[in-house]
Order: sequence, then C-alpha cells, then structure tokens
Amino acid sequence: MPTSTTEGRNSVASEVSAASFLFSVDLEDVRSLVPDGGKYAERVPANVEAYLQFLEECQGRATFFTVGDVARRYPELIARIADAGHELACHTSDHTPLGRLGPDGLRADLERNLEDLRKAGASRVEGFRAPIFSLTARTAWAYEILRELGFTYSSSVLPHSNPMYGWEGFATNCVRTPSGVWEMPLTTFGVLGRRLPFAGGVYFRALPAVLVRYLVRRRLVAGRPVVGYFHPYDLDTEQERFMHPELGESRALNGLMYMNRSRVLTRLAAIVDLGGSIVRYDEYVAAVLEGAEDARD
Ligand SMILES: [Zn+2]
Repeated sequence: MPTSTTEGRNSVASEVSAASFLFSVDLEDVRSLVPDGGKYAERVPANVEAYLQFLEECQGRATFFTVGDVARRYPELIARIADAGHELACHTSDHTPLGRLGPDGLRADLERNLEDLRKAGASRVEGFRAPIFSLTARTAWAYEILRELGFTYSSSVLPHSNPMYGWEGFATNCVRTPSGVWEMPLTTFGVLGRRLPFAGGVYFRALPAVLVRYLVRRRLVAGRPVVGYFHPYDLDTEQERFMHPELGESRALNGLMYMNRSRVLTRLAAIVDLGGSIVRYDEYVAAVLEGAEDARD
C-alpha cells in the first residue's frame, strides 16, 4: 500500500515559490472517450511512466487529476504516482462535462471519484479539475458542491470565451470563490483580443517553443504561477491515429492533436530550466494562496 504523503507535503510547502510551474496531468484514457476505443492499444501506463521519469529527473512534484475509471483499472499505477510524492486529485468518474452532470449528478459522481482514488491509495484528496474546463458561469453551482465535499481548490476555468467552454471575464489569477474554494484558472495570454492558453496540451505543442518560453518567463519574473495541463497522450508518439473527442469531427483539429508530441519532454525541460519549479497544487494553495491571506490577517 502506498504511504501517506502528508509529512512530505508539510516539509516542502514552505519552499514553494509564488512563481511556480503548476504542471499537471489530466489522467484519463482517451480510448474510453471515443467510439470503439477498446480496439486501440493501451498506452496510459507507458505514458504516465514517461511523465514520472521526467518529474523524477527535475525533482518536480506534480498533480494528477485522475478520472475514476483509470483509478479503477490501474490501481498499481495510482499507487506509484502517490509513492513518488505526487498529488492525486479528482477529474470526475468518467469525464462527463459539468453541464451534462448537473448539480446532483456532480455530487454523486465526485463521491464515486473520491472513493475510487482512496481505494487506489490516495490518502488525502483536495483538488478538482472539470473535464474539458467545463466550469463556466453557467456551471458555477459546482463550487458549492466542491465545498460540501471538502475540496480546497479547483483548477477548472479557462478564463476566455469559447463556443464549447470558457468563462469570459473570470480572473486570470488564483482567486478564492464565494464558496471558499480556491480557483486556479488555466494560465492564458492575450492575442488579437482573445486569451489563449500556452502552458498545456495542444497549445503547448503547437505554439512556437520560443513564444511559450517567453510567456512562461514573463509570468515567473512577475512572481506569478503558470497553470498548465497535459494528458497521457500529449507525449505519446506511438498512439494509433483516430479521431479525438470534443473536436466536432474536424480532421484539421485532430491533426493538431498529434503535433509535436515527440518534443513535449524537451520543451518541458526547457521550462524547468527557466526556474519554473514544479510543485503540487495543494502545496501551492497551502503555502502561497493561504499563506498570503495569513500574512494579511
Ligand atoms: Zn480531461
């Protein structure tokens, strides 16, 4: 059984800088989100191992937002993540966006998600990320449910408008919501009157590396965190070709889903070289966000 990571968490929390790279993995199996996904090769364990090796090399401790069905299928992998000192957090039971779940559906889903993570060895679960950043003005009821269930923070908002998701006008920094739950929105940059992410997923892979490094450096120098997200498939060069979910069957967008995967780990290492040390979200909340509030009291 994995051991509790509470002691390590406390000892590291005091070293967490406001200018941290909040790298995270949205731990889901893309095969379970596409029709007939079971006919494709299993790739999640190998991809997670690649992230774990990278994190060990750069001495980073990250957050894995984990879908319940992955926790149920791969308990040994979940135990390995916890044993390596990383944080396990919720990403719903089967990756259903919040608008489809509704308030009662989300409550029931998260109770299952928490149970699955605990069965797999998570000693303490404080964080949540909504599937496809589906926490928006229309699903803001979710914060009250997160508070009821004891969550400390969410990292579920993309603070710009988008036909599918996104919350226009949401703060671009970490804020405590009226429910008391912290929101750590995805980091974005302004371009042509819009805001786009740059530190995660397809954006991190498709944007020029020099631009991403510039944007990350600018945030870190300003003493601000960079909130990013990656999936197991983002570094997978061996995954079979198939249409990814939530793309409206667009072949052009699906092509982007496979772009520059072989460069992800090199690009991530370059971010760490900029001084963006990788820390767990729960540690960041405790040491930086709540620490700043304590200092004001
Ligand atoms: Zn996801």
